[in-house]
Amino acid sequence: MSLHLHDTLTGKKVPFEPLRDGEVTMYLCGPTVYNYAHIGNARPAVVFDLLARLLRRHYRLKFVRNITDVDDKINAASLETGKPIGEITARFTKIYNDDMAALGVAPPDVEPRATEHVEEMIAMIATLIDKAYAYEAEGHVLFDVQKYPDYGDLSKRDVREMIAGARVEVAPYKRSPQDFVLWKPSTPELPGWDSPWGRGRPGWHIECSAMAEKHLGETIDIHAGGQDLVFPHHENEIAQSRCAHGGAPFARYWLHNGFLSIDHEKMSKSLGNVVLVHDLLETIPGEVIRLALLSAQYRQPLDWSDETIDAARKMLDRLYGALRGIAVPDELRRETEPPAEFIDALEDDLNTPMALSKLFGLARALNRSDEPSERRELAAQMLACGDLLGVLGADPESWFAGDADGEISAAEIGALLADRDAARAAKNFDIADAIRERLAADGVQIEDGPSGTTWRRI
Ligand code: AMP
Ligand code: ZN
Repeated sequence: MSLHLHDTLTGKKVPFEPLRDGEVTMYLCGPTVYNYAHIGNARPAVVFDLLARLLRRHYRLKFVRNITDVDDKINAASLETGKPIGEITARFTKIYNDDMAALGVAPPDVEPRATEHVEEMIAMIATLIDKAYAYEAEGHVLFDVQKYPDYGDLSKRDVREMIAGARVEVAPYKRSPQDFVLWKPSTPELPGWDSPWGRGRPGWHIECSAMAEKHLGETIDIHAGGQDLVFPHHENEIAQSRCAHGGAPFARYWLHNGFLSIDHEKMSKSLGNVVLVHDLLETIPGEVIRLALLSAQYRQPLDWSDETIDAARKMLDRLYGALRGIAVPDELRRETEPPAEFIDALEDDLNTPMALSKLFGLARALNRSDEPSERRELAAQMLACGDLLGVLGADPESWFAGDADGEISAAEIGALLADRDAARAAKNFDIADAIRERLAADGVQIEDGPSGTTWRRI
């Protein structure tokens, strides 16, 4: 395998070599479970699921994606809704996993919950205090950033400049403004655990350090997450883990996905443009959403809009269109590998746009060929590529013809709505109305709203 990955720490694309022969450890920071995942949250889940699939071709992979189920945002959600914390976190963990499954994301090998690892966190904090990397102050335990000279290496920040430039009001018990919380006291109504520093709860960063150590050991191969986690979250994870482990490297490769914007704007609650995976799945097949998320290379920004979704849908129409009517024998399917140039593209820091262009090359060759055995061979290769990308798993006929019970398919509805949008834009209202009636005849009611057209089956 000639995998190359861009490593945030060195700032370079480098050849990947695991610490131990034949096996790879990977940790991905998972969701904080207090509300629905938005489409930006789905990007790391899908992208690193693809990396996991690629690694599993050659290595025994142990992939850990945690659940953050203790956090002040969860406490706030509980206060706001009057629902117990455990009920909120259980509910949104399930919703997260169901939504990700609908996007073809395989479950990780281990999905540790923070609340089940508080003992390990307390032990790590105690070690950091013992080694004088952390100190206790007013019921808090803080990491002493000045004691760790490499602080800032990952995010390329100069800690002395950061300290000098600190403008925020600094808690009086901190030795230095950049010191971060490992443990904080809990009032009786908040979740808390007994500890040598009184009843309290862990800070966010120590959760990942402790869970990574428990399930993957002191040095892990790959640590991944979204770009926003580089600082402070991952910077702090490195500081804690290395100081607790006598300086041993924490992660050999740091991978960060780029951000997803909505119609060229930052997704944010205040702008009211947060798009939830759960809502998208009501009208768009998970496979379309997955392919849209993979349509840009993972480090690049990705803009999410109706066009992004439409383009992914059309790609699947073309790919399934090529596969239509070809029966690939099971044995051929099993023994066929994706072509080398497709694998090469993915092994080049997950160059999905290049890999997709190779897949379309196969589809074009298949469409041009009228030799049945060649067509079967090309179809088998396309399916092998699809397996790795996590798409093309449906029967082509059902993609076009609708679900098993004969309903019009979501793909077809989407295509008709796109045609209707085009007709309306061109002021061809007769055509637009005809499409509405055609959908109504198929039992689909549509409604035009400020953020586009929605549909439901009646
Ligand atoms: P959170 O639950 O906020 O910690 O986010 C879960 C994951 O989603 C983290 O890896 C974030 O970096 C990632 N993430 C959050 N927003 C976006 C976005 N707009 N685009 C891409 N990734 C995101
Ligand atoms: Zn983390």
